[in-house]
Formats: sequence, C-alpha cells, structure tokens
Amino acid sequence: AVISTRRPAWVEVSASAIAHNITAIRHLTGTKRFIAIVKANAYGHGLTQVVLAAQKANIDGFGVATIDEAIWLREFGIDLPIFILGVTPASYAVDLARYQLIPVVSSEAWLDELINNIPAEKQLVVSIGVDTGMGRIGIHQKDELARVVEKITTHQQLSLKGIGMHFATADQKDIAYYQKQLQNWHNLVDDLDLPADVWYHMANSATTLWHDQPTLDTVRVGAAMYGFNPSGNELATDKLIAALSLKAALVHVKQVAAGTSVSYGATYTTTQPEWIGTLPIGYADGYARQLQGMYGLLADGRRVEIIGRIAMDQLMVRLPEALPVGTVITLIGQAGQETITLEMLADRLGTIPYEVATSLAPRLPRKLV
Ligand code: PLP
Repeated sequence: AVISTRRPAWVEVSASAIAHNITAIRHLTGTKRFIAIVKANAYGHGLTQVVLAAQKANIDGFGVATIDEAIWLREFGIDLPIFILGVTPASYAVDLARYQLIPVVSSEAWLDELINNIPAEKQLVVSIGVDTGMGRIGIHQKDELARVVEKITTHQQLSLKGIGMHFATADQKDIAYYQKQLQNWHNLVDDLDLPADVWYHMANSATTLWHDQPTLDTVRVGAAMYGFNPSGNELATDKLIAALSLKAALVHVKQVAAGTSVSYGATYTTTQPEWIGTLPIGYADGYARQLQGMYGLLADGRRVEIIGRIAMDQLMVRLPEALPVGTVITLIGQAGQETITLEMLADRLGTIPYEVATSLAPRLPRKLV
C-alpha cells in the first residue's frame, strides 16, 4: 500500500496513553510480565509507533499473529521475546531459528513436523498452546500435552519458553464458561512437570480487567493497552485512556443554496443555504460507509454531521459557518469536552471496537504524539 503522507488525513497514537494503560494493567493485576499484542498493524494504531511507545513503557515481550509480523519486529531492532500467536507452518523452522521467534505448539503433529524441519545445530524456543475451550488452536488432551512437554524438554535443540491459553468469554457478564475454561486449565496443566522459568500466559485484556488472575505470571494484552474497552459496553472500566485519534482537515469549503444535493445517490438535499466542507477520507480508509449520519468534532467540541454518502476517499460534513480550508476535524478522539470513541463507532456499525480499529487502512499515516 502507498502511505498518503501528503494528504491531510491521519491516525494519531498517544504514547502517554499507551504508557498509562500498561502501568494501569500492571497495577491492577500485579503481573510479573507484560506481553504487548501488536498484531494487525498494532490493532490498526500503527506498528512502528506502538512498538516505540510500548518499549519505552518497559514491556517484557511482543505478541503478533504471523511470522512475517514477527520478522518485521526483529528487523526493526526488537530484542525482546516475540510470541507468534497463530500457527506458523513448520516448514519455516529455518526462519524461526534465524530470527529467534517463539511459535505456538498447536498440536503434537505440528511439533513432530517442526522437529523434522529444525536446521542442524540451531536452537528453537517454543510456547505450548493449550485449548481449554476457545476451540481454535492448541492441545486439549492431557496425554497429548504430556507427550508434547516430554518431546520439547528432552530435545537438545528445543526449549520451552511459555505455555498459554485463551479465554473465549472473559468480556461477558456471565462467568460460567470462563470458570469452566479455568478448571480445564488446572486439569490439563497443574501436574505437568515444566521448567521453572516458563512463562504462563493466559490473560487477555478482558481477563486482566474483570477476572481474578489464574496466575500473576504473564499477561498478554492488546485492547486494554490501546485503551479501548474489550467488551464494547457490556462491562465497564474507568482504568484506560484511549490512545487512538483519527483526524482529517477540510480540503474544500463552499456555501450552497437550498435544494442542493450532496454525494452519490443524491441522498442528502439541503433545505436552506448551508456551508459544506469536504474531508479527504472515506471508506477505503476504513471509515465505513455505514457511518453516514455520524459526526466529527471541531476543535472546540462542536459537532459537524456527515451528510450524503461516504465515498471511497472523501466525505462531506455540514459546517456551522464558513470555516477555512485546513480546519481539522476529529472523527475519532477528543475535542473540547466531546469524545468520539471506537466503542461508539462499533455500536453504530453493529461490531466490536477491535474491528473498527483494525479496519483503518494502511494508507493513512500514523503519527506518534
Ligand atoms: N492472545 C491471543 C491468542 C489473541 O488472539 C489476542 C487477541 O485477539 C490477545 C491475546 C489479545 O487480546 P486483547 O486484545 O483482548 O487483549
């Protein structure tokens, strides 16, 4: 993708918000270690910017979805442990060894394939994925888990860095399934004989915010570090500060007469003379077409409604008065006393804040502020 650095539409990510959130989660949980989850372009916030901010906040490791994201981090200069949360094809063992990345062992069959692919005289570090009820990847049978531990801990070229699981319902009020997963974890893991320095990691954001910790060892946190509510608005938290803002500046301003239609489909027609501004951002930037009728904020917090259809690269807003080209409008974030959150947009779109953030397109530049 071409990053549009000369167009006035951009994402801002606040280093102080990220630092605040990391500290807040550390205090809340008393955890020993913090793995910062930066997959999918750091949840759309901007990988470079978030990595720099998180590193300053003294985290202990990074988590990503893919081996390519992990390699990017190493080449960027990261020395910390890098956990790959998704399954890495075992045929990439050479890259795993070369970059010292930590893949998840998702099954015994996968481990066997990895062992077949380990390059001579190289060391590989792995983390075991335990499936206690997420039903996605990981080992869910006790005998398989015991064999996997045995194969890893007795292999000359393998070492065990971590063991983890993922909760499916930690963001919900009903805790029955959460407790069932926790019980499964204890049944599967408690009597395993693991090396003393293994990292136990199972707490995602929702677990850190709303549940007793299964262990105080290591948390694996995305949403809460970015400062949005992992439950949308099902459960409350006042511990976090939103790190992301989305802004654009007016590139065109005009006054039109009553009876003037705006944008595709001519779905909006003025009933009186109006000032209309055009912003250089659209649905191809991840500002969804269904957000027609939403509003942005002027610097003093006044709302400007989005009128007419949102186009691929542009949208129009109704202005309260003649405003100069270059006036900045906040589409996500705070202005004056008003705030537009990822959660609000997610609500309107019938989705979760994760999807709104990760939909922000690569072509929007990210600025660390
Ligand atoms: N761990 C795993 C395996 C994940 O897939 C994710 C995100 O989806 C996380 C941790 C972080 O979750 P959250 O952003 O809710 O903290």
